[in-house]
Amino acid sequence: MERIHPDAVSVRSAHYIGGAYIDDELALEVRRPSDGKPYAGLPVASPEMVDRAVQDAWSAFRTSDWARRAPRERARVLRRWADLIELDAAVLAPMETVGSTRPIRDALGWDVPFTAEGIRFFAEFADKHGGDVAATRSDTLGMTIAEPYGVIGAIAPWNFPLVMASWKIAPALAAGNAVVLKPSELTPFSALRLAELAVQAGMPPGIFNVIQGDGAVTGDALVRHPKISKVTFTGSTRTGSAIMAACAQTGIKPVTLELGGKSPQVVFADAPDLDRTARTIAGAISGNAGQVCVAGSRLIVQRSAADRLVSGIVAAFGALKAGHTWEDDTTLPPIIRPSDALRIDGVVQRTVAAGASLLCGGRLLAVAGAGGYYQPTILADVHAGMEAVRDEIFGPVLTLQVFDDDDEALALADHPAYGLAAGVHTADIGRALRFVRKLEAGTVWVNRYGRSADYVIPTGGFKRSGVGKDLGRQAYEANLRFKSVLIDFAE
Ligand code: NAD
Repeated sequence: MERIHPDAVSVRSAHYIGGAYIDDELALEVRRPSDGKPYAGLPVASPEMVDRAVQDAWSAFRTSDWARRAPRERARVLRRWADLIELDAAVLAPMETVGSTRPIRDALGWDVPFTAEGIRFFAEFADKHGGDVAATRSDTLGMTIAEPYGVIGAIAPWNFPLVMASWKIAPALAAGNAVVLKPSELTPFSALRLAELAVQAGMPPGIFNVIQGDGAVTGDALVRHPKISKVTFTGSTRTGSAIMAACAQTGIKPVTLELGGKSPQVVFADAPDLDRTARTIAGAISGNAGQVCVAGSRLIVQRSAADRLVSGIVAAFGALKAGHTWEDDTTLPPIIRPSDALRIDGVVQRTVAAGASLLCGGRLLAVAGAGGYYQPTILADVHAGMEAVRDEIFGPVLTLQVFDDDDEALALADHPAYGLAAGVHTADIGRALRFVRKLEAGTVWVNRYGRSADYVIPTGGFKRSGVGKDLGRQAYEANLRFKSVLIDFAE
């Protein structure tokens, strides 16, 4: 791919409703995370605009044949959509890169293809997964019929704008629903392109809509709308909790919530390859500058392996190159906003003031331009009550705790609030399996950390990390409701 000139990347700032761009007053300013430069305005959909989008989606759901057509035909449109997304990489990837923290190499190599392939994955369910015939008396027929909900309200975060949005919308659409998506106001534009391509692929206008705006006005109006039958959300635990309450108050709407985390990485001295493990640990906290829900932010290491592991991690951090997302060699992207870089620094400095030692990092990074960058950081001599160990930082900050036996490792790994993911590194398969069973986390990785391209493996948290799953069969099923039918045909 040719070099990207960020000023040459243009975006359309509008809502996308009923298959058309709808202009609206530009009320917010959107900045490029890499250099802090404002590059577009953004409308904030009022409750009236949200109502227009939801009513349009409802009408498309009822009058188009999206939900009624043969499921294979729905799948064909979704596959065509995925093909168009891949063919559009030269437009979509720079748009994603300039407007978010995703380096161009990752946007091209992962975000765009992963989005497309995820849509294909869910398309395959459309005609292969329905209801059941139940075992009943021979003169009755008992069935469960799987039906779409209607209009699903989807709300996405900013850290992987395309991929996170696709995890919400692809299973909902494959199951025959209509969707109104609100992307994050910090990274709002790539979702519009997805919607435009969906219509080009043959999706009926109004089935997939995008509304722009903030959480307090637009997001809140969307989840409270009476014609939204289900809400699927990815974002912070705090917002997830507010959304769950709003859904309870406005119709007992079911929710899928993918929320925050504070995931432990437990490393034993017998980890298969300690040097490789060190690189894995470093990658799991520095990837996307730590702005990853499953960031492995708490390192819990057996005492005898601690020094070697830490020097491997520090070396891996040293090899990272901070830079603008559009530079080809950037491996440490910016923090989403300069104010968030300052917030991260505040947590680090307060934890140091409370007695922690800084093993590396601990400073804002100067990169040409005005963006916020942060040095990958390790804090040692910490305990569970300290801010950096307790709270999700959403930056490249790793805490280090040392253990002597398995029970101590398990106790340290447990977090009172979060249970999103965990890593265990050991050559002892029995110990690995005991940890898999005992760790309270929605995903446990053994001798690796991070997702593979296996969409069939769901992701989602325990405890305050969320409710329900993205990806996998579970995400598809969560976008259907099951109707029970009992037919009597005795003579
Ligand atoms: P956020 O909660 O601030 O915002 C997420 C979205 O919710 C945005 O679109 C925002 O506009 C909207 N929103 C805010 N208030 C709202 C309200 N009252 N009603 C409706 N919508 C509202 O989160 P963020 O800063 O965008 O993302 C970072 C967070 O997301 C982190 O906590 C991270 O762990 C989490 N996350 C979780 C997963 C997962 O799969 N578990 C994946 C990615 C990110």
